[in-house]
Amino acid sequence: MEDIVARRFTGSFTQQEAIPSEAVEAAVSVLQSGRLHRYNLAGGETGEVAALEAEYRDWQGSRYCLTVTSGGQALQIALRASGVKPGDAVLTNGFTLAPVPGAIAAAGARAHLVEITDDLRLDLGDLEASIARSGAKYLMLSHMRGHLCDMEQLMQICDAAGVTVIEDCAHTMGAAWNGKRSGNFGKVACFSTQTYKHMNSGEGGLLTTDDAELAARATILSGSYMLYERHGAGPEAAAYEEARYQMPNCSARMDALRAAILRPQLAALDSNIERWNARYGVVNDILAADAQITTITRSNAETFVGSSIQFRLPGFSAGQCRGLLEAAARHGVELKWFGGREPVGFTSSHHSWQYMQGQSLPHTDQVMATLFDMRLPLTFSEEECALVAELICEAVSEVAR
Ligand SMILES: *Cc1c(COP(=O)(O)O)cnc(C)c1O
Repeated sequence: MEDIVARRFTGSFTQQEAIPSEAVEAAVSVLQSGRLHRYNLAGGETGEVAALEAEYRDWQGSRYCLTVTSGGQALQIALRASGVKPGDAVLTNGFTLAPVPGAIAAAGARAHLVEITDDLRLDLGDLEASIARSGAKYLMLSHMRGHLCDMEQLMQICDAAGVTVIEDCAHTMGAAWNGKRSGNFGKVACFSTQTYKHMNSGEGGLLTTDDAELAARATILSGSYMLYERHGAGPEAAAYEEARYQMPNCSARMDALRAAILRPQLAALDSNIERWNARYGVVNDILAADAQITTITRSNAETFVGSSIQFRLPGFSAGQCRGLLEAAARHGVELKWFGGREPVGFTSSHHSWQYMQGQSLPHTDQVMATLFDMRLPLTFSEEECALVAELICEAVSEVAR
C-alpha cells in the first residue's frame, strides 16, 4: 500500500516547452527594430505578421489567412464577417470551452446548444433537429478536444439546410478528416495560438477562409484601417469595396513580436504533432487496457493531434469522480473533471454560462458527468506519459475498491 502511495509523478501539467532559440532571436530583432505594429514597416519590408499569414495560409491550404489577438477574437470576427447579426440564432456544441459561447454573446447573437455523443462529437441527429427547431442559419462547430465528427455528413446536413459553418479549430490545428484539413470544410475557420494550444505566442489567433469578401470583412473588423493592402495573405483590393465602409474597426491586430515567435513554431508544427501523437498513443493504450476506463473512440477517417486526452468512467458516481480527482492528485496527476457543479479553472459546462438562456442537454450532461481530461504537454517524455497513465489506473482502482 505504502509503495503505491509513494508512486508519484512530479512533472507540471501546465509547463510547455521553451520557445525555440530561433524564435527568441527573431523576437529580439523585432524589439531592436522598434517596429512592433504590423503596419509599421520599413520601405519594401513584408513584416513578420504578413509573412506569418502567408506561411499559415500555405500550410493550411486555404486561400486567405488573417492573424488576430486571440482565438476568441477570431471566432467573434468570423461570426460578424459571416453575416451574423444581433439576435440571430447560432448553433454550437453543448460541450466546448467558454470563449465559444462568449464569442456568440459578444456578436449579440443567441447560442443554441446542440447535444454531443458519447465520443464527444456533435450529435448530428440533434443537429438536424436543432436546425429545424431554431431556424438557425449558422453553426459554430467546435472541434472540442480535437474530436472531429463525420465532416462529410455534417456538411451535407448544413449545406442542405443553408447553414453556414464556422469551424472552431482551437484543438484541431493539424487534424484532418479523410485527408482534408480541419478548417477547410466550413466557410471560415478559427485557430488559437494561446499558450496551451499547438503553437504558443501567449495569446493569438488565426482565421482562414477561401471567401474573398469574407476575408475582406474580417480584415477590416480586425482593425486594418485602410492599410489592408499590406496583408500578405489577404484578397485583392477589389474585395474590399463594401467592407471598407461597412465593417467597424474592432482593433484585434496581431503584433510583430508574436508573429516572429510563431513562424519558427509553424515550421516545427508537423514534427511536434508526431511527438504529441506518440505520447497520446502511450497513454491511450494503457487506459484502454483498464476494464473500468472507457477511452474515446476515434474514426479511421480522422487524423488528430493528441495534445490532450479524455476518458470516461461511466460506472462512477459523482462522489467517486471527486475521489478520483483527489486520488490522482496524490499521485501527482492533474486531471480535470467536467461533471463538477461549481466551475473551476477553464470552464466548459453550459450550466456556468448564465448570460445565455439555459438549455436542457440531458445527454451532454450525462456524458460530462463522468468525463475526465488531461493535458499532454511535450515537456513529458513518453516514459513519463506511461507512468502518468499507470498512476491514473491505480487511482481508479483505489477509488473503485
Ligand atoms: C482555447 C480555445 C478557444 C479560443 O482561445 P483563446 O484563448 O481565445 O485564444 C476557442 N475554442 C476552444 C475550444 C478553445 O479551447
